[in-house]
Amino acid sequence: MSCPSGSYSPSGEKPAAVYADWLEQNLIEPMAFEPVTQADLCLAHSTAYVEGVFSGKTSNGHGNKNLDVAESTRWTVGSLVAAAREAVRSRIACSPSSGFHHACYGAGGGFCTFNGLIVASRKLLAEGLVRRVGILDCDWHYGNGTDDIIRKLKLTNDIVHHTSGAQSLRDSDDYFRWLDSAMQQLREAKVDLILYQAGADAHINDPLGGLLTNEELSKRDSTVFEQCCKNDIPTAWNLAGGYQKEADGSIHKVIEIHRETMRQCNRVFGQGLKTGEH
Ligand SMILES: [Zn+2]
Repeated sequence: MSCPSGSYSPSGEKPAAVYADWLEQNLIEPMAFEPVTQADLCLAHSTAYVEGVFSGKTSNGHGNKNLDVAESTRWTVGSLVAAAREAVRSRIACSPSSGFHHACYGAGGGFCTFNGLIVASRKLLAEGLVRRVGILDCDWHYGNGTDDIIRKLKLTNDIVHHTSGAQSLRDSDDYFRWLDSAMQQLREAKVDLILYQAGADAHINDPLGGLLTNEELSKRDSTVFEQCCKNDIPTAWNLAGGYQKEADGSIHKVIEIHRETMRQCNRVFGQGLKTGEH
């Protein structure tokens, strides 16, 4: 999954860094998964775009034609598909992936090559594992690619999409009002699965973000996980954006945000499990 993207975004190399951190902190039970095929990617994109990226004729979402980046996307998308299936089976799973929501039907952009959110949704819908999927996109930026594909492929009945980046949120009160209303609408739409983008770029110090402090990001994550757990909605979450970088290139602040999301996930769903056992 990890591959230097050749762009400003450090997200291409984030899966390995975050995974290593979670293993070291003893926060996860790893599982194996398969990459998706080019045909799977055509569930969200035109064949011409998919074939163009894999043949090196069309630019990927990072603005280059690097075939290693193309190959890595089969694994990042495959990871989200696997997490979505596992969530339906066991209620909660995580894919340490990024780079999905700006990818439109016929083109990538904004560090996103293929839209794994749509591919995972459509795979599970086709497999009959879910009847309706909710995408809760808490990356700081507008999930324009997701909206574009939903519109072009007429998926509004199958996929309910909420993206904080489409709102004008001035402070954390605005933010949590939006989050509560999005969660309520997902419950009312009776989605069978939520794909939650836990973007670290909603942080107030993010160079491309954001307005939440570390404590508020933690509250965002615990709010989402508690609501999903309480309402028994299977949840697969991923990393999405995060651009805080030290002078030496270290992304430890982003890794700390993702670690806290995983801690909140374990706290909430670990508790649920214990309650179930007694
Ligand atoms: Zn973003």
